[in-house]
Amino acid sequence: MPQTVHRQCTLCEAHCGIDVEVEGDRVLRITGDAQDPISRGYICPKAAALADLYADPDRLRRPVRRVGSQWEEIGWEEALDMAAEGLRAVQRRHGNDAVATYFGNPSAHTMAVLSGLPMRHVLNTRNHYSATSADQLPQHLTSAEMFGNLALFPIPDIDRTDYMLVLGANPSVSNGSLMTAPGARHRLRAIVARGGRVVVVDPRRTETAAHASEHVPIAPGGDPYLLLGMLHVLFAEGRTRLGHLEGLADGIATIEALAAEWPVARAAPIAGVDEATVQRLAREFADAERAVAYGRVGVCHQRTGSLTHWLINVLNAVTANLDVTGGAMFPNPAFDVGAVLKRARLLGFGDHGRHTQRVSGLPEMNGELPVAGLADEITTPGEGQVRGMLIFAGNPVLSTPGGARLEEALATLEWCVAVDMYVTETTRHANVILPPVSPLERSDIDVVMPVVSVRNHIRYSPAAVPKRKDGREDWQILTALTSRLGRGVGRRVEAAVASLPSAFTTPERIIDLGIALGPHGILRRGPRKGLTVAKIKRAKHGIDLGPLEPRLPGALDTADKRVQLAPPVLVAEAAKLAEHAREREDALSEGYDLTLIGRRQLRSNNSWMHNSARLMKGADRCTALLHPADAGARGLADGDRVRVVSRVGAIELPLEVSDEIRPGVVSVPHGFGHARPGVGWRLAAEKAGASVNDITDPSLVDAITGNAAFNAVPVRVEAT
Ligand code: SF4
Repeated sequence: MPQTVHRQCTLCEAHCGIDVEVEGDRVLRITGDAQDPISRGYICPKAAALADLYADPDRLRRPVRRVGSQWEEIGWEEALDMAAEGLRAVQRRHGNDAVATYFGNPSAHTMAVLSGLPMRHVLNTRNHYSATSADQLPQHLTSAEMFGNLALFPIPDIDRTDYMLVLGANPSVSNGSLMTAPGARHRLRAIVARGGRVVVVDPRRTETAAHASEHVPIAPGGDPYLLLGMLHVLFAEGRTRLGHLEGLADGIATIEALAAEWPVARAAPIAGVDEATVQRLAREFADAERAVAYGRVGVCHQRTGSLTHWLINVLNAVTANLDVTGGAMFPNPAFDVGAVLKRARLLGFGDHGRHTQRVSGLPEMNGELPVAGLADEITTPGEGQVRGMLIFAGNPVLSTPGGARLEEALATLEWCVAVDMYVTETTRHANVILPPVSPLERSDIDVVMPVVSVRNHIRYSPAAVPKRKDGREDWQILTALTSRLGRGVGRRVEAAVASLPSAFTTPERIIDLGIALGPHGILRRGPRKGLTVAKIKRAKHGIDLGPLEPRLPGALDTADKRVQLAPPVLVAEAAKLAEHAREREDALSEGYDLTLIGRRQLRSNNSWMHNSARLMKGADRCTALLHPADAGARGLADGDRVRVVSRVGAIELPLEVSDEIRPGVVSVPHGFGHARPGVGWRLAAEKAGASVNDITDPSLVDAITGNAAFNAVPVRVEAT
């Protein structure tokens, strides 16, 4: 008898509600859950591909170990023992820091993320890495500096704003990133429909820009200059106001002095935007009753990522659009990650800048080091050199800068353990792969996305299909590994924690406690109104906890409970903006006459959904996108095969000629490049594409955090 299971799609940050129609262990259909409190029936084409992932014959079902270039299935106990012993042996030989961990993007989409924390503690290494430093690290830094907590993100109140300025983001395709907003395209259209404006600032006329009120085709890397030009106008014309932050925020005079250095005539040419547009945008933004500026990876992925996100927050603050309806607001999640970090900080966790990366000298944040420096940590001899790795749900060969060099480095490791469903471009270098069951086979409670969601909510996702008898969930694998790693190492506390009966240490138990203690929990709101996991489970379509509400000053985590508008580290970095502009110019004059930017696509999910036939059908999507004027100047035509060359490498791929991209810019999507020998996803390998990260430059990072600067890489394009 078919039945329908209501849960979430956990592939991307939108976490849309889905109805999964199943019969036994067969998935019949996946549709949107119209009763989900936030997605309201919306899904994108990737949701149906969850069924492909579940049924994929290329997906690993049992642990494997590498024997030469072959893989041999082994039992779970043997695999876990072998995996843990290999990591411990590396630490015995070379010290604790010789083992590094890398957690990929999917780890934020499963409650197993909580099981990674004891694992990190037991390994007791400084070498922790994750996709965070190839993604949103600048946003963590600005939140920590301005609001005192790296999990306190200002999120656009998209459903109630009148004016949305979008910089380097493509929510129509991403459905919101650090702004969980399923069906974002409809939400943006609704702004225009209610008489508002959506302005998209991007070198490419993205899918979001195509339906916006206005597209501003900025030069790559031009965002901080545009924002400073706008701030200059606002201060010069007396249009700034702090609203309810008056008396609660410090540093406005410093911001005014900084903006004074960037008159529009100076800022606009570097931004690549005409002066009149900069002035008009500033006035429109200040005049709108409710406005919000929002930036995402397009600006995070630059040398000035932290600076830009700071200026975005400042623009919202000085126009009285921070912490107000229709502006940038702080969600109030049931599981208060910010409060957890605050408590963890008291125990010595969850801060930043406590130590630096051995080779690059870049700072740690929240216990992690920048992944752009990982290859150097593996290849540079000396104390602390990485000789072994645990890689959880990550494919850094395709998703981090200088991936080809990292791949060479991974091949030199003495021991590598991967927790992954496939033999990928990265995990093919592992000695042992421990495969978790697919998302539809596990239950979940999403506690991460509500931290960045446009509406407060919480939802339980039951497994839609039974997991196979010998299947293990990702958290079970991590817990089993942690338990083994904690044995006999003389660290009594860790060993004791690791050997606690799993009934006490399941992520669900931890979440239950966190929710009970949280702002909507039973301990705060009482048994009738308060939340527990049991109550959340009973609400089949999730629980709506209402629209975002002002939370300052209560939510502030700064020492003096005030907003820091001008943190010294960011002000100091702003003094280098003229230097950054010169660097851009120099690079373009050294034989690399174009600037590379990335491109997100609706049917892609970073590097790991390219084995789904339904997502991969149609024309080749891994193309180099170039303006007709640039193509013509090089004698190139649409469909030609071209070589894109950077300082660190070259890739070959088909050319797509379109005026949707600004002249002087070339765009290549990320996540492709599956033509490596021995990968286990056959369809992906057939439609391999080229990896943009074979030409991104790991030496280009956000100057403060070390976040990878995938965008604005100097390149040239030539015929093959
Ligand atoms: S936008 Fe698509 S991939 Fe993302 S959660 Fe929703 S259905 Fe899944």
